[in-house]
Amino acid sequence: MAAMVPAGPAELAMYHRLLWVVALAGLASAGLLLFVTAPYGRHARGGWGPTLPSRHAWIWMESPSVLWFAAVFAAGRHATEPIPLALASLWLAHYVQRTFVYPVRMYPDPSHRTPVAVAAMGFTFNLANAYLNARWISEIGSYGADLTTYLQLTAGAALFGLGYATNRWADRILRELKAQGRGYQIPRGGLYRWVSCPNYLGELVEWLGWAIAAASPAGWVFAWFTAANLVPRALAHHRWYRQRFTDYPPARRAVVPFVL
Ligand code: NDP
Repeated sequence: MAAMVPAGPAELAMYHRLLWVVALAGLASAGLLLFVTAPYGRHARGGWGPTLPSRHAWIWMESPSVLWFAAVFAAGRHATEPIPLALASLWLAHYVQRTFVYPVRMYPDPSHRTPVAVAAMGFTFNLANAYLNARWISEIGSYGADLTTYLQLTAGAALFGLGYATNRWADRILRELKAQGRGYQIPRGGLYRWVSCPNYLGELVEWLGWAIAAASPAGWVFAWFTAANLVPRALAHHRWYRQRFTDYPPARRAVVPFVL
């Protein structure tokens, strides 16, 4: 069993500063990404320095969300309690898939590359985010055995599950299109009837569910950061689809059906 590391006043002060840093970084990212689309995938372009195979970039970038999260979680005094364990299970269900399964299945082509700068930014964010969330659920936060806690946990977990299923389904449709080897095509069916990026919509719903279930400032900051990244990217994907395909379905929105 991992050694328990209780949070002292110095760590608590640092923890709250870090929360603000990540929340403000989300604001800065949203502002920037509305004008400069992150240079990976269909928006890849030169001038962003050295690159590495996309598969390696994903594994490296996301690994703190599994390994560092698990280590920080295990060091908390509440790590063996049922609610923290349930929350950690939700988190790891997403991140084990995203870190070790998704990149292997999505990027079989070793020539597909991502700038090191993009992967380094993702890695840094994931270090901070995994710490903030794991530390809250197993050490700083406390979960009582009251009705409100159980209602929040149940509602949040249900929303998380819905988002997870949507994200996995939408990514599978894209993977199947990619596997046809005919380049980018218009995805169709299911939620693609209404939005260009149901994978991002699923991801947003997932982390909204997590924030409700964990009832933590760290969860809400993460949900905010996810929206700050994925909404501008969905808008960029949507513009790109409309420019590339003259027959792109006109009623389809970017990420929120009928709205955005
Ligand atoms: P994209 O939708 O841009 O791409 C996903 C994969 O599908 C890529 O391999 C892409 O190829 C391929 N693809 C996309 N559209 C098409 C198409 N029309 N035809 C054929 N192939 C296509 O997603 P991201 O790469 O940005 O993100 C991947 C996952 O990671 C998503 O589930 C997303 O929700 C999640 N994510 C979460 C973030 C968060 O803040 N929590 C941040 C970023 C991503 P190619 O790479 O060649 O374009």
